[in-house]
Amino acid sequence: MVSHHSVSTTPASPVASYYAASANDSPTRAPLDGEAKADVCVIGAGFTGISSALHLAERGFKVIVLEAASVGFGASGRNGGQIVNSYSRDMDVIAAKYGDTTARALGSMAFEGNRVIRERVSTYAIDCDLKDGNLFAACSDKQMASLREHKALWERYGNDRLELLEGDAYRREIDSKRYVGALLDHSGGHLHPLNLVLGEAAAFESLGGTIHEQTPVVQITHGDTVRVRTQHGSVVADQVIVAGNAYLSGLLPDLEGKSMPCGTQVIATAPLEEAQASALLPNDRCVEDCNYLLDYYRLSADRRLIYGGGVTYGGRDPASVEGAIRPNLELTFPQLKGVKIDYAWSGNFLLTLNRLPQFGRINRNVFYAQGYSGHGVTCTHLAGRLMAEALSGQFDRFDAFAEIPHTPFPGGRLFRVPLTALGAWYYRLRDRLG
Ligand SMILES: Cc1cc2nc3c(=O)[nH]c(=O)nc-3n(C[C@H](O)[C@H](O)[C@H](O)COP(=O)(O)OP(=O)(O)OC[C@H]3O[C@@H](n4cnc5c(N)ncnc54)[C@H](O)[C@@H]3O)c2cc1C
Repeated sequence: MVSHHSVSTTPASPVASYYAASANDSPTRAPLDGEAKADVCVIGAGFTGISSALHLAERGFKVIVLEAASVGFGASGRNGGQIVNSYSRDMDVIAAKYGDTTARALGSMAFEGNRVIRERVSTYAIDCDLKDGNLFAACSDKQMASLREHKALWERYGNDRLELLEGDAYRREIDSKRYVGALLDHSGGHLHPLNLVLGEAAAFESLGGTIHEQTPVVQITHGDTVRVRTQHGSVVADQVIVAGNAYLSGLLPDLEGKSMPCGTQVIATAPLEEAQASALLPNDRCVEDCNYLLDYYRLSADRRLIYGGGVTYGGRDPASVEGAIRPNLELTFPQLKGVKIDYAWSGNFLLTLNRLPQFGRINRNVFYAQGYSGHGVTCTHLAGRLMAEALSGQFDRFDAFAEIPHTPFPGGRLFRVPLTALGAWYYRLRDRLG
């Protein structure tokens, strides 16, 4: 059976982020022009797409990646750079909702994406300012109690590098009075996300892979082989990976109703004095708080404070990114009141209702992985490995995710934004009441 969906996409221009301004040199890749053949065609050059492509190239597949804008244009090149283990829903919730077998399977992979990143950085000598350690900061006693449970849970699944910082002990890591304690994961960390994906793309090309930029895919024609059509050409492939995440619009309509693009905003200060930077975050860890609408921050290699937060549903940008985020930064660090902001940008991540990623396939040969619900730096790297396994015929680990049911957002495509905005209002209230 042959079916197809079409979509019109216009190439987008690069984002004026701190990351774009400090990106390592990277070639511009020519758009696809004409017909090409591959074992695998990957749509989207973010972490999901490039990580999958690299794993597949390492296994000897001929892979062509098609990217609407440029490598790392989406969330992968704009995010907080925080290496946070596990998923946006943890194994206790997974066990309660989907049973012990699923929880055990996902639990056995919860720390693997992090390891893949570190392997990539060391095997391919990727220069991306990798630092160790991430903190979860509690804003209330209730959140601190959850962090204690969280530690016990992760230890059961094999993470023995966690340290609870009770009471004021967290002040050795963060010079802020905002918290009541924290959990430090020594195995987490942070990095320059755009330079990671650019480095992985270069590694993929060094193994013979091809990337075309400024090449939006406008149609997928399903069949025994799949035709992936772009504005000026097409790729015919045995298997396809759709990795457009929150930036995919219209290529897989049924799937897109079960997720929602959300915007989150980030600002980067001017470089801080060395003493000031090391007073804020003496051990150079990254931090996210435990609120539902969370703040996340860290220092860059050139000592800027990179501070993110805020969620806009439907992926629309607020009128002023700096206006939205600066008050949170100054609440956490009043000592930075009035600090100069050099960059402000936003990006879209993809939310699912159960906050677990969506893995699956359409027909036999069109695969997808998306919807990491705000924590995708590690899980996209796990996704890449699982894609390569599945496309080589080993389905067990991929299927552990693919079998998790996903429901459409209530109200369908048209109403899901207002309803979830109402949800955000509720969670903001809940965060405020602790
Ligand atoms: C501001 C921000 C901060 C974040 N902070 C963190 C964090 O600190 N830690 C963490 O774990 N996670 C974080 N996340 C989430 C994380 O960045 C994402 O989960 C992850 O990068 C998703 O990667 P991806 O490759 O699936 O999607 P993306 O990186 O969005 O890539 C999708 C790509 O597909 C391309 N594309 C889409 N449609 C087409 C088409 N039709 N044809 C061709 N190409 C197409 C897009 O142009 C894009 O380049 C953050 C997200 C944002 C937005």
